[in-house]
Amino acid sequence: MTTIATTHLDALPLCPVCRRGRLHPTTRTEQFNPRGKKVEVELLTSRCDACAENTTRAAQQDENLVRLAARKHHYGPLLLGEDILDLRKRYGLKQQAAAKIFGKGKIAFSRYENEASYPDDSTTLLLRLAIDKPDVIKALADWAGVELPLWAERCEDDQRLRARQPTKTGATQVRNLKPSTTSAPRKAPAVGKSKAAPSVRV
Ligand SMILES: [Zn+2]
Repeated sequence: MTTIATTHLDALPLCPVCRRGRLHPTTRTEQFNPRGKKVEVELLTSRCDACAENTTRAAQQDENLVRLAARKHHYGPLLLGEDILDLRKRYGLKQQAAAKIFGKGKIAFSRYENEASYPDDSTTLLLRLAIDKPDVIKALADWAGVELPLWAERCEDDQRLRARQPTKTGATQVRNLKPSTTSAPRKAPAVGKSKAAPSVRV
């Protein structure tokens, strides 16, 4: 991070919006309400002294990401909106496709990712499983008849990762039950065909 001497206006960056004013560091507070709990994160931004537009500079954005990630500490078992977004993006899913996989209504993922609402306990558990174990999301997607657009890419990542890890082959073969990329044909349990309006009100 660069230290800005606020006394020297010339040292302040030029506003990219109006190209007249200078950007002064300031903060804004973003509020989250995981299950009614109030979590505030102070985020860095810059304000133009001419046009009053806020601009978040790259270094400020980096610091903001760190601060946003740190709020996890207050969430208990709940997932951050970003965690849910990451899972969906990881497999190239659209929000509605993700909702179908997890048996939720059309707008559920938009609400989860924006933290307008939080998934209920069983959905949170399922999402956590899907994040930890690729086979879980693959099985859920198969049952829901939803394609995972980036499944092949993620399997390749996994293979590359495993190729890098030295494998221990000792006399006693203690095998790790790692998620395999092939999903055995299992009988699909009755995954809740939930009706509309699944969103949880906080
Ligand atoms: Zn400006």
